[in-house]
Amino acid sequence: MIYQGVLKKMMTENGDTIQYYLDMGVDFLNMNQLLNKEFTISFVKYECLNCHLDKQIYRQGFCKSCFYETPNAGDWIMRPELSKAHLDIEDRDLAYEKQVQLQPHIVYLANSSNVKVGVTRKQQVPTRWIDQGAHEAIEIVEVPNRYLAGITEVALKEHVADKTNWRKMLKNDVEDENLVEWRDKLKQYIPAEALEYYIENNAETNLNFPVAKYPEKPKSLNLIKTPTYQGKLVGVKGQYLIFDDETVFNVRANEGLVVSIEV
Ligand SMILES: [Zn+2]
Repeated sequence: MIYQGVLKKMMTENGDTIQYYLDMGVDFLNMNQLLNKEFTISFVKYECLNCHLDKQIYRQGFCKSCFYETPNAGDWIMRPELSKAHLDIEDRDLAYEKQVQLQPHIVYLANSSNVKVGVTRKQQVPTRWIDQGAHEAIEIVEVPNRYLAGITEVALKEHVADKTNWRKMLKNDVEDENLVEWRDKLKQYIPAEALEYYIENNAETNLNFPVAKYPEKPKSLNLIKTPTYQGKLVGVKGQYLIFDDETVFNVRANEGLVVSIEV
């Protein structure tokens, strides 16, 4: 069977083991069912996720002009502290920004390669943690808008990491941490404006990825330089496909590429 579609981050479903789905246009591929199977993935062309033209992808699945124009690529996406919809101030499209920013947001601690702080919309829990390859995570603050989450993250990252080491995450070179202790320890650094939203009583969420074999030296597949790759899938973690020969492919970082997959 040959499937063709534009890459978007895989959809996930949490359970005893996380299920991964790749949207290939008319079909959805359940990646769990491809475990221990050989398949070929090939680059076909680009398709910007906003204008749908065959233009080179710049960032986040968008061509360069869309990245600088579309409302869903504003600076406040990557830097939530820049959010201004709560002040009625427009960045690119105030109606869109109000809809996304003025809803409950979570500041969390997640452990993928180390403990890190992050921000997500409440409805994206636990999707966001799965996408980062975190094997454990905990909510620490639930605020009514993105701005408050952003300033909390900025304050906390003085005291805890805000990045994941993807190689360590993929090698599963991780330690279990007591995130309840981390949360209690970090409480003192939460800004006064957000302190009333601190979550006192909750437990860690543990996540179980479908990986049969972790790579020791993961090497990243670049489908532009190597337009066709064939391998046996041995796992999926975060948004990475992991192959038997230690090749890894970050689906999210390749959004906007049209690929064909031959199973
Ligand atoms: Zn575009």
